[in-house]
Amino acid sequence: MPEGKIIKALAGFYYVLTNENEVIQCRGRGVFRKNKVSPLVGDEVVFQADNDREGYILEIKERKNELVRPPIANVDQAILIFSAVEPDFSTTLLDRFLVLIEFNRIRPIICVSKIDLTSDEERNRIETYAAEYEKAGYKVILTSSVTEDGIKQLLPLLDGEISVFAGQSGVGKSSLLNVLKPDLELETNDISTHLGRGKHTTRHVELIEIGAGLVADTPGFSSLEFTELEAEDLNYCFPDIEATSENCKFRGCLHMQEPKCAVKQAVEDGEIPLYRYEHYKVFLQEIKDRKPRY
Ligand code: GDP
Ligand code: ZN
Repeated sequence: MPEGKIIKALAGFYYVLTNENEVIQCRGRGVFRKNKVSPLVGDEVVFQADNDREGYILEIKERKNELVRPPIANVDQAILIFSAVEPDFSTTLLDRFLVLIEFNRIRPIICVSKIDLTSDEERNRIETYAAEYEKAGYKVILTSSVTEDGIKQLLPLLDGEISVFAGQSGVGKSSLLNVLKPDLELETNDISTHLGRGKHTTRHVELIEIGAGLVADTPGFSSLEFTELEAEDLNYCFPDIEATSENCKFRGCLHMQEPKCAVKQAVEDGEIPLYRYEHYKVFLQEIKDRKPRY
């Protein structure tokens, strides 16, 4: 039986991209319906073709992950856009996004946009942050949709992956997608961009082909609350802290009051930036203060 990937769901039809790079319009049929599993964009499926345009989905392969907003399965990576200026680069907000992305088992790629607007001093500051985040284990790219800086580095990272763009409104997500795929012609203004929409309206999601990869046309991680995280999860959402925590005396060390904490030591030694640890503590408190859900 042929297999493929759902790239669009609309009005009861699922559009399946086949290995031969054709799109088959499918309806659902088969065992998954009994299990009340609905096909999602991003799903790997087995289908039966009636002809070269239409068919039926018979089976949904096991999902690696599942985002709620936008509703997409099997997301490999998030291209996290943070502008260098306008709005100013914020490590607090960046770490918040990173934690939520890591928690969903999605690989983040940090993209610092609007680099053309920086003064020399601002550029130096951004480069210092970039080095620190690279040391923490992240890939960081500096981009500009105006000068097209960084586009050559970004494009190949999309190959063979399902990516979602993430980041605040106004950071340049639409502009970047327009540079990556000019025929998209997304509107770029802060209120009604194609990408910015979807906050209050439900609309269909689509994976668009960019280079040799698939990218969601709707940004992810619009809610930045830690509703699903437990205190113990946080360690694993900071790769630098996680790597260091192997040397903490106590298993399950939360790096607060515990003695012989390798993380606190690494912060003292300047191995982990203080702001990363401060954000960790703020997030931990936020999780602890969360009212229990019944
Ligand atoms: P989005 O809300 O994240 O999709 O952001 P947009 O792509 O709509 O961009 C918001 C504003 O920033 C627009 O006025 C863009 O023209 C501007 N902008 C986006 N990227 C860049 C860039 O790399 N350089 C400069 N100078 N302006 C940019
Ligand atoms: Zn510790």
